[in-house]
Amino acid sequence: MARKFFVGGNWKCNGTLEEVKKIVAMLNEGAVPSPDVVEVVVSPPYVFLPTVQASLKSDFQVAAQNCWVKKGGAFTGEVSAEMLANLGVPWVILGHSERRALLGESNEFVGDKVAYALSQGLKVIACVGETLEQRESGSTMEVVAAQTKAIADKISSWDNVVLAYEPVWAIGTGKVASPAQAQEVHLELRKWLQGNVSPQVAETTRIIYGGSVNGANCKELGGQTDVDGFLVGGASLKPEFIDIINAAE
Ligand code: PEP
Repeated sequence: MARKFFVGGNWKCNGTLEEVKKIVAMLNEGAVPSPDVVEVVVSPPYVFLPTVQASLKSDFQVAAQNCWVKKGGAFTGEVSAEMLANLGVPWVILGHSERRALLGESNEFVGDKVAYALSQGLKVIACVGETLEQRESGSTMEVVAAQTKAIADKISSWDNVVLAYEPVWAIGTGKVASPAQAQEVHLELRKWLQGNVSPQVAETTRIIYGGSVNGANCKELGGQTDVDGFLVGGASLKPEFIDIINAAE
């Protein structure tokens, strides 16, 4: 079964209401392939989710950038998976390296979050990736396999999961992984899924690349056999996001 190209836009903690409206207009007006060819999911900050959802064209979907690890309740400042489901938000990004590094989210915590979000009917963009130090010490695969295992251990179906390989050294740095570097890790992740989950999950799960993707490098990256799309940060706020979506063709 062919894996449909997937392009996610992570707006992070950026934007005013006015800026968000401009980005939505840019997205709605851009010429892109049909949703049969590419799945586009943009992820504004929580507070803008309803506005974006109401004004974004129906070919595109939205994602939250995080959610709480279990049922909501006395967890001040958190947003639960049930709330996102209640608002009709279909996707959530979990395990982003900024949250792992700055907020101390462990592999196990991310695995629990993925499992809980799936149990509430959300689809998940689950992020994994190594730091520069880990890459230079030769432990890239060990690190991403451990992050993926912590998720695999907690879930019974990968149907609603997209795996995002995002090398930490490439996020927001302008230092993009080379197409060969990305392909190498994506292939290894697919082999990991094949050996540790199932050949069917390895074949059907989309593994997308994130880390300084832009309008100039997207075509070659997206042309790699095991690169099924992108998670885009900085460039998802700019008109070049339309070019990145067009890398699907
Ligand atoms: C990200 O935040 O997921 C990301 C990939 O950021 P950037 O594209 O800016 O490197």
